[in-house]
This record gives sequence, structure tokens and C-alpha cells, in this order.
Amino acid sequence: MFRTRLIGSFLSKTTSAFPKQASSTISLRYCSNHHHGILSHSSATPITKSSPSTLTHPTTHSSSSSQKEDISMYLKETHERVFARNRTWAAEQVAKDPDFFKKISAGQTPEYLWIGCSDSRIPAEQITGLEPGDAFVHRNIANLVCNTDLNAMSVIEYAVAHLEVKHIVVCGHYGCGGVKAAMTPKDLGILNPWLRNIRDIYRLHEKELDAIKDEDARYNRLVELNVIEQCRNIIKTAPVQKCYAEKKFPIVHGWVFDFRDGLLKDLNIDFESVLHDIQKIYNLTGSQK
Ligand SMILES: [Zn+2]
Repeated sequence: MFRTRLIGSFLSKTTSAFPKQASSTISLRYCSNHHHGILSHSSATPITKSSPSTLTHPTTHSSSSSQKEDISMYLKETHERVFARNRTWAAEQVAKDPDFFKKISAGQTPEYLWIGCSDSRIPAEQITGLEPGDAFVHRNIANLVCNTDLNAMSVIEYAVAHLEVKHIVVCGHYGCGGVKAAMTPKDLGILNPWLRNIRDIYRLHEKELDAIKDEDARYNRLVELNVIEQCRNIIKTAPVQKCYAEKKFPIVHGWVFDFRDGLLKDLNIDFESVLHDIQKIYNLTGSQK
């Protein structure tokens, strides 16, 4: 509907590309209970369910003047709602701890660097019970860590060398629309080079993935392999290798969030072993291994 159209309908109908033999159709606007992709929006999702307003979500495709007014009102209300909730949140923090804002004003020493998917349903703090100040957070489509991404590389450098985080977490999630879109035989414009990283991971693990006949299971495994590869990409960076050589931290973890039960799965990445393997080729510590 209105919001769906704003997000973009170009991903609404796609077909799967992998394995080559597969011929079934995948809808990226998959509206089943367990599939909502980051790059899609289910029109079945009631986005006004928690709104204090009686104004309903504009659902029309036409644009009469009254409908335009509805949309304008809707935008105004959804904007103001955030500030109302912010005032409530700030008051609640002070009620719990009168020094809360004084404490967080003093600076940050987060324990974790969280690299997650931009998917709106996986807020790092809420699903882990972390508080403000606990995690330095970086999110992008499909939780990728590309070595030419100035943003991600700056985040890692700052988190490791300056904030001295002890853990770096890559958190993917099953049903990731970014991963699904990457496996779609379609030109997605500027998303192509970004999602190409995931196609490359499929190619790296083609044999294992093609052997999985169930389509959902194959995508789920690709989600896991993507997380593992992004962990490797982090371990390949100089700040992580140098800091670990000197201080024995940070260590890198790969996790996957499951919408079905809200639980995190630890992929149990053996950090020491991966680091050792990687340094055969990617050793940036300046010492001989
Ligand atoms: Zn995702």
C-alpha cells in the first residue's frame, strides 16, 4: 500500500537463482508468518497498531485532496509520536536513576561492538537486554563488513583502538531479505555491488549450499555462512589483529537471530583458530607467524 510503495515495489516479485536447477518462485514480499525481508514490507503488517492516534494508515492508491490530507496528517502524527515517546523514555530513566543522564554524559566504555542487519525488527539493545553505553552499534543491509567500506572500517578502528571493546559480534538473522535479494536474478541498481558480496559467499560455498534441497534451509545456511565470512573479514583487519596480539582482546563472535522464538544462536566461531588460519595470508601485525 502507501508505505510499501514508498519503500519501493521493484522487489515485489522475484524468482530464485540458486541453485541453477531450482525453478520455484520466491516473493520478496513474502507475507507468511516467518518471512518478512528487510528489503520488503508486508502490506499485512498493521503499522498503526501502537499509535495513540485514531488516524488510520492511508491505504489508497488514488490521490484525491482528502486522501492527500490524510497522508499529510499521518506523517505529522508519526513524526510527533517519536518525540512524545522520547519524553516518556527520558522521564522513565530519571525516575529509575536520577543520575542516569549525568552518568552517560561522562563518556562511553562499551564492552561490545555490534554489527547487525538494518532490519527494523532486530534492535541490538532490546533483544540482548543491553543498556545505553553497553554496545557500540553498526548496522547495514545483511550485516556486511567489506574492506573498502570506509564506514564499517572506521567503526571497527574506533571501537577497537579507541573504545577498546572486548567483544565484536556479527549478528545476522534467518529470513534476511538482504540475503534473499542477493540471490535474486534481477538488477537492483546500487544494491548490486553491495549484495554481490553475498553472491560471492554463495560461490565460495556452492557445493554445500546446492546440496541442501529445501529452499528455506538453504537460505538459512547462507545466512549463517554470511555471518561467518563477515567474522573472517573483521579478523582480517589490522586493528583487530594488532590489538589482540598485544592485549588478547577483542574476540569475534558470529550469532544468528531467529524470529520464530526470539533467540540468538551462537555459531561458536573458534576465534583463535580462525585468526591463526587467516594470518597465513592476512597477517598485519608486523610479526612473523
Ligand atoms: Zn537482514
